[in-house]
Amino acid sequence: MVASSNDIRTNSDKSSIYEDRGWKRSDPVPDHIYDIHKSLVEEEVIIRSEIVNCSKHFIKKLEPDIPNPEKPRRIKRCHYVNLCPICNNLLEQYVEKQMNPYRQVLLDNGGKNILMTFKLRHNQKSSLKHLQKVLKDSIKKLKDDNIWKRTLFPSKYRFYVKTEYEISWSEENGFHPHCHLQIGTTNPMPTNEMQSLIANAWKRIVTTVSPNKFFIPNLSNGVDVTNTPSGKHSKDKDPYGMDALKKMQKKSNKKIKEKFKKLNSAGSERTKGSYSLIQMQSNLKDIFIPVLKEIYRTTVKRFRRIFFNVNTHHTLISNISSK
Ligand SMILES: [Zn+2]
Repeated sequence: MVASSNDIRTNSDKSSIYEDRGWKRSDPVPDHIYDIHKSLVEEEVIIRSEIVNCSKHFIKKLEPDIPNPEKPRRIKRCHYVNLCPICNNLLEQYVEKQMNPYRQVLLDNGGKNILMTFKLRHNQKSSLKHLQKVLKDSIKKLKDDNIWKRTLFPSKYRFYVKTEYEISWSEENGFHPHCHLQIGTTNPMPTNEMQSLIANAWKRIVTTVSPNKFFIPNLSNGVDVTNTPSGKHSKDKDPYGMDALKKMQKKSNKKIKEKFKKLNSAGSERTKGSYSLIQMQSNLKDIFIPVLKEIYRTTVKRFRRIFFNVNTHHTLISNISSK
């Protein structure tokens, strides 16, 4: 397969990459990410050879690395961050590492790391593709809105913004794409005041973006705003609802079959039968795979999902460069 120009790819490994990223010699990618990669290859969702072979080989250096002669072999990655779960995970880790010094300087200087989570209203039948488009367009508009640009996060206050699109999934509500924005700000405005301003703006913006009034969130559920010094959002520890599925599986196999029978009939309208009941019944992996398949087939492609922007005009920037 030929790579399309839309496919975002990171640069190839540099010799200093492990040190830059603060990684030990061991592989930083967690096991479940390899499992996801493996399943997507088995299901032929991932077919491009570079991605299929991601992380399967080591790069043997032909010449010793002069500054790091003891440096071991490196794992060969494909670097397709929007197509490969492994490289996507590495990008997430990289962005987090990149953000850390900025967050630290901000907190040391009385600023706040504000986490805002933006959601849409939806149900099991909402198409993932459409939800994502409404979400993405609304976020773009929001960042250009006067509430954002002039009231909440004008340049003098806004130090950085980390943008992260996530897709979670649940049996009851189907796919739930949402967006986390982490804003490093020195705006002294109380968090609850920010919440009420942004919730109104979000509702207004989604109303203009979405042709379907159903997606418009209500004021209390559309946005969640918290002061999050750690920069972590625990809500997404289980982004695909795997923990819930595991719990269900423990309960009883029969119950799962019933639940997924229901899901399958609803899902067939949505995905034109991309998963069968038999696939879902046998075990956790098979239940989980149809969800992943849809995510990878329809959306992760060409979807830039995590990025970090620093405002170089903020006064705190001098604290960073002097480090
Ligand atoms: Zn890869």
